[in-house]
Amino acid sequence: MLNLILFGPPGAGKGTQSQNIITKYGLAHLSTGDIFRANIKGETQLGVLAKSYIDKGQLVPDDVTIKMLQSEVEKNPGAKGFIFDGFPRTAAQAQALDVLLEARNQKINVLVSLEVEEEELKKRLLERGKTSGRADDVDPSVIQKRIEVYKAETTPVKEYYSKQGKTVEVNGIGDVLEIFKTITSKIDSRL
Ligand code: AMP
Repeated sequence: MLNLILFGPPGAGKGTQSQNIITKYGLAHLSTGDIFRANIKGETQLGVLAKSYIDKGQLVPDDVTIKMLQSEVEKNPGAKGFIFDGFPRTAAQAQALDVLLEARNQKINVLVSLEVEEEELKKRLLERGKTSGRADDVDPSVIQKRIEVYKAETTPVKEYYSKQGKTVEVNGIGDVLEIFKTITSKIDSRL
């Protein structure tokens, strides 16, 4: 069983690296951003609520996000493990995730933190906005807000898992495949 968190600011490359990691380790992929976007597309009640936060670059409230994540984990009883992409994003979410996994006799093995500086993030997000179809990738003020929210609310998650000795940092700038190799060597050393 391998449960890992792919962590980093918006635009750090979590989605891209997730795809590589899933293929190599056969994990179930849980991206809260993707799940919210699917709900927005499907015009569900959850989607309507999530959109009101996402469009402003704010986080969807913890109670809603945690409940959704829990039900997604429960939908995958046979999974060999999970890659959590974009979750947890607050200390409260991290605590809830630990409780949820503990109840299933599981735990987080490692948090991989992709390190990318702010100017590069803004450049990448604006570039992605040309093709991603994501409203939150287009407006520079929304991008700035997401980065500020990351700094204020999400960086404590890295600290939370550091205290458990589970955080590893990886430079997220450079060749995608080289970054993937570094990630896998860090994961493998934890298995
Ligand atoms: P992402 O695709 O991970 O960049 O997420 C897009 C947006 O979805 C974020 O800016 C948040 O508004 C929302 N979101 C995604 N994951 C979470 C989470 N774990 N907690 C709260 N909001 C989230």
